[in-house]
Amino acid sequence: MPRTYKITINGQETTGENGTLNVVNPATEEVFAYASQASGNQLEQAVQAAQKAFISWKETTLDQRKSHLKAIAIKLEEHQEELAKLITLEQGKPHNLAMMEVGGAIGWLQATIVLDLPVKVIEDSAAKRIELHRKPLGVVASITPWNWPVMIAAWHIFPALLAGNTVISKPSELTPVATLRMVELMAELLPKGVINSVCGSGEIGAAISQHPGINKIVFTGSTLTGQAIMRSAAGNLKRLTLELGGNDAGIVLPNADPEKIAPAIFQSAFLNMGQTCAALKRLYVHDSIHDALCGKLTDIANQQIVGDGMLPETSFGPVQNLKQLQIVKELVEDAVDNGATVLCGGEPLQQKGYFYPPTLVTNVDNGCRLVDEEQFGPVLPIISYSDINAVIKKANDSENGLGGSVWSSDLEQAAELAKKLETGTTWVNNHAEVLPHAPFGGAKMSGIGVEFGEEGLEEYTQIQVLSITK
Ligand code: NDP
Repeated sequence: MPRTYKITINGQETTGENGTLNVVNPATEEVFAYASQASGNQLEQAVQAAQKAFISWKETTLDQRKSHLKAIAIKLEEHQEELAKLITLEQGKPHNLAMMEVGGAIGWLQATIVLDLPVKVIEDSAAKRIELHRKPLGVVASITPWNWPVMIAAWHIFPALLAGNTVISKPSELTPVATLRMVELMAELLPKGVINSVCGSGEIGAAISQHPGINKIVFTGSTLTGQAIMRSAAGNLKRLTLELGGNDAGIVLPNADPEKIAPAIFQSAFLNMGQTCAALKRLYVHDSIHDALCGKLTDIANQQIVGDGMLPETSFGPVQNLKQLQIVKELVEDAVDNGATVLCGGEPLQQKGYFYPPTLVTNVDNGCRLVDEEQFGPVLPIISYSDINAVIKKANDSENGLGGSVWSSDLEQAAELAKKLETGTTWVNNHAEVLPHAPFGGAKMSGIGVEFGEEGLEEYTQIQVLSITK
């Protein structure tokens, strides 16, 4: 009998009043666990618990909160294997990548702990002293997606707690269990109500975004849902950090070395089977090296072992859910119908599980759905170009603006071109690399605000100016 993972309210593991959700393993299509679904009444209890806990949590010193977070890092290390297994079972990624996900979450926690929120002195004159203080906001709700369940929850929760807020975590209904378990572990080390979790389908997310007792929402997911959250957050002017979709372009200049860059390009595009917000999703390659780079990328794609992430030999897992698999399938079919060439992959594996092999598609251009829309899966369209100004225009011809990259052996030229991309992050000879000390966020429809580093931490605070007339 599969285990039921519970929600956490006010320090207690709690059975959901709305029954359970089936949690499906995408490699087998079988239910391997259940997750408790919270009722509206239980969301209310979670908000009240978080509000009550905030009264004393906000009075703790930064150092006291750091001690709590250090203890959590140790506990998560002890449970790394357990959490990684849950991630592979619910999300599909190979087990070693799931271990890296939990390890990354712990690393992020350690990098967050060293941050401070110092008082800034704006004026200290004979007449006045003006100081800028950073105060916590109150109750922060974290709404997370199904691609990196533990990592993204960690990105939201740790800085929120460090800044002195209390938290309600709501994982995706598709991948709830590793996050519910992580919250359980954290709750064992925190005062009651400082961290809570609720779980359920879309309505619970909608109820969170309307709730007047919640002061901030940090959300990672689709642009459409981000817009819905923004609309319903207006009631009490909730603070928002929204990390939304991307359709990141990479541009390869003629002086790049195909042999050297192919592994990094493959990794950036197919990280987590392409289900990563800042993955490289459109690759523009100068026509002089187009065929050579396609050849190298095809070699790497053909080396992948597609299969169940729990098997040690697997290097490439399934797509997380059937809906996403169908999006990928439809976009590739549309491209082929419009004259595209499939270099490798190109259709789902004929077996149980949502398996789609790494797929490279050429003879496409802007105007093709596979190039214009976010595929969020294991397929990369490769577009040949000859004119650099025209290609920058094509790269920017998107309502998204999360990341972009330029690949070249001339770093100066590449950096100049990279700065022309309308994105929150622009890489040279890299892509999809996020770091705990560098702010990360989207331009245009890819989001609002940033995560990580000092700037990310500050988003969990309200400025209070203390102005003293002497
Ligand atoms: P969603 O944006 O719908 O889901 C993300 C989270 O939001 C989930 O926890 C979801 O809950 C919750 N949610 C759903 N509806 C609401 C609502 N009205 N108010 C508040 N929260 C809500 O993404 P999907 O899972 O449907 O994926 C759709 C597309 O989004 C993908 O195809 C991909 O393009 C993009 N995506 C982007 C991600 C990123 O990292 N930027 C990650 C995942 C997807 P529930 O699961 O219960 O519906």
